[in-house]
Amino acid sequence: MWVSEVFYSIQGEGAHMGRPAAFVRFFGCDLDCDFCDEPLHKTQKHRMSPKAVVEQLLGWPVRFVILTGGEPSLEDRNLFIGLLHSHGFEVAVETNGYEPDNIGTADWITYSPKDWDHIKTEPFYDELKLVCDIHSNKAQVLQIAALSKKPVFLQPKAQTDLLVSLANAEFCRQLILEQPKLRLSLGLQRFLRFK
Ligand code: SF4
Repeated sequence: MWVSEVFYSIQGEGAHMGRPAAFVRFFGCDLDCDFCDEPLHKTQKHRMSPKAVVEQLLGWPVRFVILTGGEPSLEDRNLFIGLLHSHGFEVAVETNGYEPDNIGTADWITYSPKDWDHIKTEPFYDELKLVCDIHSNKAQVLQIAALSKKPVFLQPKAQTDLLVSLANAEFCRQLILEQPKLRLSLGLQRFLRFK
């Protein structure tokens, strides 16, 4: 497997926000978003066997692992997820929705679509995450929330200028107050600047 990094931290997003977790960041993505804040997935890659990754994960006290990227579903990860399960890991995946079948055996899937005009409607995910800034289409967010059968988290885009980030957070706050089906995902690692 091509892996950018394996590390231990705290989940900063979505329903598991605040929970300690190990992370496996896969190399590569099918998209090239101009706002991408995970540049390592483009520049750093190590060839690692699934067994070597599991051995590294077992060195930490947590048995909750998040597969992220880049885009984890570029390749079939189900054998790897099975290996993680066999070692007692609960497995979550963060995906842009590229190929849901490739991660179908995960315990928790966060769907973070980048093209809001083509959101997948089949229920392969457990939570939907929309990264918003003050220019996001408010009506579209409300429509997506109204249609979704799963929780929809709004995550303010964290930018270099803290005041801009706080304005994005206020945009999300106002929408959540308007549509109580929405939830706030702060992206703690961006706002608090931890890994
Ligand atoms: S889908 Fe995610 S990882 Fe891929 S380029 Fe876009 S923001 Fe970056």
